Amino acid sequence: MRPLLLLFLTALGLSAQTSLVHAGRLLDLRTGQVRLDQALLIQEGRIAATGAWAQISAAAPKGVTVLDLSDQVVLPGLIEAHTHVLLQGNRFSQDYADQILKESIPYRTLRAAAAARAGLNWGFTAMRDLGTEGAGYADVDLKKAIETGIVPGPRLFVAGRAFSATGTYPLQNYAWELDLPSGVRVVDGVEAIRVAVRDEVRRGADWIKVYVDRGTSLGADGRLRSMTNYRPEELKAFVEEAHRLGKRTSAHVKGWDGIDAALSAGFDTLEHADGFTDDLFDRAIKQGTFWCPTLYAGLWVAEGRGPLGRKSTEMLAIAFRRGLAKGVKIALGSDIGAFPWTENPAKELVLMVQDGMTPLQALQAATLVGAELLGQPDLGHLGLGARADLVALTEDPLKDITALQRLRTVVKGGVVVRRD
Ligand SMILES: [Zn+2]
Repeated sequence: MRPLLLLFLTALGLSAQTSLVHAGRLLDLRTGQVRLDQALLIQEGRIAATGAWAQISAAAPKGVTVLDLSDQVVLPGLIEAHTHVLLQGNRFSQDYADQILKESIPYRTLRAAAAARAGLNWGFTAMRDLGTEGAGYADVDLKKAIETGIVPGPRLFVAGRAFSATGTYPLQNYAWELDLPSGVRVVDGVEAIRVAVRDEVRRGADWIKVYVDRGTSLGADGRLRSMTNYRPEELKAFVEEAHRLGKRTSAHVKGWDGIDAALSAGFDTLEHADGFTDDLFDRAIKQGTFWCPTLYAGLWVAEGRGPLGRKSTEMLAIAFRRGLAKGVKIALGSDIGAFPWTENPAKELVLMVQDGMTPLQALQAATLVGAELLGQPDLGHLGLGARADLVALTEDPLKDITALQRLRTVVKGGVVVRRD
């Protein structure tokens, strides 16, 4: 044992917040290497020491709580970079309207708390939630309730209300004299956008989410085209104002035109982006833009969206292979909420592998890349100083990615939240 480490461990003393994980196999997702018989010393919810079990356990404080995962593979907690805890599945537009019109925000928030608990139990110890879809800032409250320990759930990074322009987002096509709620915060014009972004941040939004396009169609050039919801200077205003306030920006885009507009405005992440093409990939790579392809939601809702919906999903799968080959930064984001919270979003990992990733690449998308997208360097890995968020399973996830749907253990901030 290195003297410094020994001194460090002694200085830690015995504390209720100190525990020791005995990992039979520790999977390092940076390299794909598996180290046998390892220990993780957890202090105040963070990794305080790592190394061979024999050394670390000998130097650990006497009587320290041990979590015995000697028969399991341990890896960092998963990050879901595109969720909607306040939605419960909307294959058809009526499903969406029913939630907005027939369910109160308190009711939807209770369901969101159950969704957050389910997400955590599936091993997603952090989630980026991209818009409450008509439920105001209930996500900010849920995040607070999780942080104060009132309800269990992942670390949440929330968007509050997403933005779209007048006449571009449901609920639409009802009798004109009705004053109906909207799934988004409607804002138009550069100055109004700047004020609205400030107001979102004031109310607790960590991210600014904008619906950049709609109305996809198949172009004569074979590309998936779309209508943009904003003028270029309006899109730039969202990004500039958010960045000035230290916040990141997410763009919902489906077609080529939306992706083009979002990249020109400098959005940090692109959601869906079925119409991605090589020229756009080159720009995304140059700008360091992240992509959440939401493969599972695409497949799940396609049934309700007609032939173009199915074509769009096929194009997304092809784009995924191209983007992967070119090296665009892909994070796991399933868009759960578009499909119900009874389906484990770890199914996204399976589709990512089907569409060309190695299991290691898919797991990196769900950890290291997700943490980079969030700007949270202490998430997505189990190195010194990292949050003690981890999952464990008996099978080898590098051999069978579906094994992530059969976790045995989930730990968040050093606290065991699931142990089968
Ligand atoms: Zn979404």
